[in-house]
Amino acid sequence: MRLYNTLSRRVEDFRPSAGNLVRMYSCGLTVYARGHIGNFRTFTCIDALRRTLRYQEGFEIRQVMNFTDVDDRTIAESQKAGVPLREYTDRFIAAFLEDSATLGLERPEAMPRATDEANLRAMTGMIQQLEANGHTYRSDGSVYFKISTLPQYGRLSHLDVAGIKAGARVDADKYSKEDARDFVLWKAAQPGEPTWDFGVGPGRPGWHIECSAMALRLLGEPPIDLHAGGVDLVFPHHENEIAQAEGATGRPFSRFWMHVEFLNLDQEKMSKSLGNIFTVPDVLQRGYRASALRYLYLSVHYRKQLKFTWESLDQAEEALTRLMDFLARLDTVTAPGGHAAVAARVAEARRAFADWMADDLNTAGALGVMFELVRAMNAAIDAGEVGAPDAAVIREAFDEFDRVLGFITLRRAEEATPPVPVETIERLIEERRIARRQRNFAEADRLRAELEAQGILLEDSPTGTRWKRK
Ligand code: AMP
Ligand code: ZN
Repeated sequence: MRLYNTLSRRVEDFRPSAGNLVRMYSCGLTVYARGHIGNFRTFTCIDALRRTLRYQEGFEIRQVMNFTDVDDRTIAESQKAGVPLREYTDRFIAAFLEDSATLGLERPEAMPRATDEANLRAMTGMIQQLEANGHTYRSDGSVYFKISTLPQYGRLSHLDVAGIKAGARVDADKYSKEDARDFVLWKAAQPGEPTWDFGVGPGRPGWHIECSAMALRLLGEPPIDLHAGGVDLVFPHHENEIAQAEGATGRPFSRFWMHVEFLNLDQEKMSKSLGNIFTVPDVLQRGYRASALRYLYLSVHYRKQLKFTWESLDQAEEALTRLMDFLARLDTVTAPGGHAAVAARVAEARRAFADWMADDLNTAGALGVMFELVRAMNAAIDAGEVGAPDAAVIREAFDEFDRVLGFITLRRAEEATPPVPVETIERLIEERRIARRQRNFAEADRLRAELEAQGILLEDSPTGTRWKRK
């Protein structure tokens, strides 16, 4: 498979460095709030990459995705809420896992939390290694990385290090390229902040050291094969991750760097700090299904910005409905006998699909192949040129496409679970039956309308009332 590598700024052949195992790390959510649909664009594209490597390219995957559960923002927000840090971040980890399942994301093999003791020890161990290698200095109890000690600093983000003020330092986790300077590895204990002491003095980790240390602890010897995240992480986060890992081990950190472009709302990056966010539950609340959102994410190449609008989600829903209608139509094909022309057309589509996905994860191209196949096969069914064995071949191809894309399986799972718990539906049907018996038809109609508003239709028959999805 070919993949754009931010490090080289070129599309390169990707395969694991040794054997069949891909060792990949993706930066996870900073759990100070529920993730928004911009965050989940990045996570969904990385999920599509993971699935392509796994199901299409046949590699085994070991993916680590962390939770940043200690940093400037998690501490500030937990303090504001008056809730202990661990308890505060627990909520958003739970919400993340729920939204991930709703979007059909495969679970990474490991999902470490920065504040687990083994991870904190890996961080302090790495800082000690950096101290031993002469890459650090201390000031007021904090430990800083001295970027002038690492000649390759700035390579990932193409930073011009010549203009950087030597000796100036920054304590914040987030800062811009213009403010590049020595960054903090371990922050001295502050009143009211959580503090650990595992060998570099009492304090807490800076954001960047967390990922370098957890990646190497859980993925083994560098270089790992692939490191991924959203484009806003290129600088300073990933630049600093490289500096720490390479400064500590003397070896390259990751062979490939993959970055997903922004999801924008009204020309701006969707972000908590701007306040222009929607979450997955917000999208569901408006009556959309997560499968449509997943489809929308994958309809745009991951290196292009995605302009989010509700109309675009409507269009995604329409396209997905067309696909599902076609798959339902296949079930009505019962004529015996297969046709060589259908088999050949399907084989061609499978090849084209795989080629697009292998070409830097071109999901938009791959979707185009699916819809061309739908059009061609609808025409063939109209012409009576598709038999039941052909339908099976077509179905198999779509199953194969969906192992990578995932929205068909997701839509089927959504169809199988009603939007309202079955017990609630049955209780309301029973209340309606009683209302009707009491000739309270206004109440009966209200109950019917209440269910319909939640996507459930009632059908009365002599044998009782049945329900179905709208
Ligand atoms: P954070 O919780 O801020 O660390 O972000 C988690 C992930 O979401 C990171 O990989 C970010 O790069 C990514 N991300 C944040 N905002 C957006 C956005 N608007 N569009 C796409 N990805 C984003
Ligand atoms: Zn990270």
